[in-house]
Amino acid sequence: MQRVRLLVFNAALGVLDYRVPEGMTIEFGSIVVAPLGPRQVLGIVWEAERLSTQEVPESKLRPLLGAMPAPPISERLRRLIEWTADYYCAPLSSVARMALGSISALRGGGTTTEYRLTGAEPARLTPQRAAALDALQGEQGSIRELAELASVSDGVLRGMVGAGLLEAVTVDLDRPYPPARPEFAQPTLSELQQDAADIFIDAVRAEKFAPFLLDGVTGSGKTECYFEAVAEALRRGRQVLVLLPEIALTENFLRRFEHRFGVPPILWHSSLKSSERRRAWRAIAGGTAQVVVGARSALFLPYANLGLIVVDEAHEISFKQDDGVRYNARDVAVMRAKFEGLPVVLASATPALETMQLAEAGVYRKIDLPSRFGGAQLPDIRVLDLREEAPERGRWLAPKLVDALKDRLAKGEQSLLFLNRRGYAPLTLCRNCGYRFQCPNCTAWLVEHRFSKRLACHHCGHETPVPEACPECGTGDCLVACGPGVERIADEVAEILPEARTALVTSDTMNSPHAVGEFVAMAENKAVDVIIGTQLVTKGYHFPELTLVGVVDADLGLEGGDLRAGERTYQQIAQVAGRAGRGEKPGEVLIQTRHPEAAVIAALANGDRDAFYAAETEARRDAGAPPFGRWAAIIVSSEDQSEALSAARAIGGTAPNLPDMLVLGPAPAPLSLLRGRHRFRLLINARRSAELQKTIREWLGPLEFPRGVRVNIDIDPYSF
Ligand code: ADP
Ligand code: ZN
Repeated sequence: MQRVRLLVFNAALGVLDYRVPEGMTIEFGSIVVAPLGPRQVLGIVWEAERLSTQEVPESKLRPLLGAMPAPPISERLRRLIEWTADYYCAPLSSVARMALGSISALRGGGTTTEYRLTGAEPARLTPQRAAALDALQGEQGSIRELAELASVSDGVLRGMVGAGLLEAVTVDLDRPYPPARPEFAQPTLSELQQDAADIFIDAVRAEKFAPFLLDGVTGSGKTECYFEAVAEALRRGRQVLVLLPEIALTENFLRRFEHRFGVPPILWHSSLKSSERRRAWRAIAGGTAQVVVGARSALFLPYANLGLIVVDEAHEISFKQDDGVRYNARDVAVMRAKFEGLPVVLASATPALETMQLAEAGVYRKIDLPSRFGGAQLPDIRVLDLREEAPERGRWLAPKLVDALKDRLAKGEQSLLFLNRRGYAPLTLCRNCGYRFQCPNCTAWLVEHRFSKRLACHHCGHETPVPEACPECGTGDCLVACGPGVERIADEVAEILPEARTALVTSDTMNSPHAVGEFVAMAENKAVDVIIGTQLVTKGYHFPELTLVGVVDADLGLEGGDLRAGERTYQQIAQVAGRAGRGEKPGEVLIQTRHPEAAVIAALANGDRDAFYAAETEARRDAGAPPFGRWAAIIVSSEDQSEALSAARAIGGTAPNLPDMLVLGPAPAPLSLLRGRHRFRLLINARRSAELQKTIREWLGPLEFPRGVRVNIDIDPYSF
């Protein structure tokens, strides 16, 4: 009899032992179905000595039910899963779950049924059917997916199938993707680009772990460089994974990729249709998916034959996942490359301080592209001191910025105004009684969205229509908007430059690939004069006619006193500045601030990146912050405030007293109420040599809490 140990995809169950029935062949990594009480569970066959559990006597072992028709999870990926769970203090099964990506794909290929409009146009329609007909133009998917898209019930769509308005189509889940062609449109690289590309190509050929930092200024042509490494991997029949921080950026990337390789890459992200997900997962695990572009969740997929990993915009904070398994995809990407024995390229114009440090220490090989491609110059950056050059009353743009906008409009050039705040105004209050609109679920003000006429919480999604009268004192027409959001800046531009054509770019307006595509086409065809946007417009885009960037409020990110505030501000402004002057015409950047003396602002104005890194490094060294020391956060939450607080105190009270570790708190977490849960935080500051994770596990392991309490561990938290 053969005994096997399974890692089961359910954090509460974890590890279970079974017996392999006669005639069934499995290996380590096989994905199998096992009985659990009256139910069935999925699990991965794991090396028994690597997972501990209570030994079950032989006689009590139940037999496995069967193996899924999917390739086994490789040993390299199993080791990465273990490393990730260990490093981030996360349940092994939660990490392993990310490798599966699509449970339905495990059932094998074959076909599935989807639906699309037939094109029939009946004379009379119910309003719901009319709405569905409108919403589903060009769409195809399951009834459920289409119903969601059209905001109608499944029943309405089934009725439409009966009426001949929708038809069923059979989708082959294993139909191959058209092959990418490494020589489709090979660009002529500059000498510097070629040098970088050659180094990457050699690394792909060597098939060994080799981490790189591709440190190139905005517009230096980093993408073209790593595309040559992608081409080499393709020639060698190896798969490539490209991680991008945001789906909003992929539209642009897809077009460039297709332009270079003749076909679009394979996408992986959380909002894929279920059939696309199944098809992609099977092609990834089967080795036929050549290049996969995805958000961080693409990192744990079971690539059959990976040859290269690229992390573009590697400094981006959205690579850090903030719920579930709290991992940093940039760091795990390097670990995956290490376990797989592959090159990994981190590309950025503004690398994170930690990454920079590793490059300087020689852990990452640093490849520099210090100038823009094609002779374009970096933009001229100037600071507008708002204390001296105040905007008019009730306005947010200083006269010099207004003049510059007018000048570009007269010349037919484009401008971009950046403000990292969605909505119309960050705070709304009553003129009469001072009442402020607050989210009932979070410690946050409701943000007015004037175009949708709603007040919204940006943390939990709570929304309410803008009321006619103050809910506190009843006065009508009394609400005042305090401070600007991008919508308000768009209004101001409309007043100052009524003839300008504007585009508002926020996650509210760019809510589909189609919307992003339309915006990019308009900007490229010079159908837009002024772009107003949040951080969504700061990276990835290349608009040659864009010559002016205005940063509406450079101080926004510096508030709050977070140790990373300086770095974040520097990165954001350097990135958005990088949108100016990418073509033949020189670019200009105007930064509005009340703190021109701040080190970050001065470094930006002088184009002195080294000064910024030096100042930032000193601040971090003083605080024992990364990369000099390490931080971890323990977040304790409950719907009941006193329950959360006593649990947090219990944790604080049992904190180990170690010379290389300092435990701070508990204190209210930065968002002390979030989605209806009260949150307290303990911060741990440790020396680099400290056994941080082990200590935390041994400290928290024996503690027990009431059921409503959640304890989350965040290793290397983004803010500290
Ligand atoms: P980065 O990502 O470093 O900011 P990009 O890769 O976006 O820079 O390149 C900037 C622009 O220059 C893009 O429009 C790109 O197509 C163009 N470009 C870069 N390298 C080349 C090349 N070798 N030949 C032609 N165009 C190039
Ligand atoms: Zn909220």
